[in-house]
Amino acid sequence: MATFIVLLGPPGVGKGTQAKLLSERTGLAHISSGDLFRENLKNQTELGKLAQSYMSKGELVPDDVTIAMIRDRLTRADCQAGAILDGFPRTTAQADALDRMLSELGGAVTKVPYVTAPDAVLIERLSGRWTCRTNGHVFHEKNNPPKKTGVCDFDGSELYQRDDDTSETVIRRIQVYFEQTAPLIAYYRQQGKLVEIDGTQNIQKVTQAFMSALKS
Ligand code: AMP
Repeated sequence: MATFIVLLGPPGVGKGTQAKLLSERTGLAHISSGDLFRENLKNQTELGKLAQSYMSKGELVPDDVTIAMIRDRLTRADCQAGAILDGFPRTTAQADALDRMLSELGGAVTKVPYVTAPDAVLIERLSGRWTCRTNGHVFHEKNNPPKKTGVCDFDGSELYQRDDDTSETVIRRIQVYFEQTAPLIAYYRQQGKLVEIDGTQNIQKVTQAFMSALKS
């Protein structure tokens, strides 16, 4: 059966960094809802323009459009063996929709690594974060700097600071996480799928914790 892994945790905890590493190690597709919205915005699609009005305020994009976008992504060929979901689901309605979509596709959520870190760490990480324009690789000016300032180590593209990584929006994004996404912790814990991971460790340690969580 196809393996779908949901990465759960607040913004800035390192889900994007780990999702990319896990995707390389496991061969599973990496699906980042935030990257999909940003790609739509770059291409100036209607979805991108709609998403931007929510993203710039740190609010969630409405469930119906988000679910439709992910449904479309999950039906692509590279998801046949499964995928690593990063940033989706973010509400209980999205989690219910995901279960239905995956059962139609003959798969299921198998594991939910839940990564945590104190708010002060999240704020520090988001405000020092630099993102690669082409493929969304992430760096941090102090904790994980690129070899050359402003240039992605992996693909040589330009690094930029996301509009929603500014301090006001960061605080709102963390609040939104606690209000709307944190209920998913209980949802997946009840299903016996949740594995807690300490996100304050360095990148390599967190990856090791993820790999053992996936094997457990
Ligand atoms: P991220 O890159 O995961 O931090 O997401 C950036 C922004 O995209 C979020 O603050 C939301 O505005 C929007 N977004 C990403 N994923 C979702 C989702 N699953 N549901 C609703 N909005 C989302």
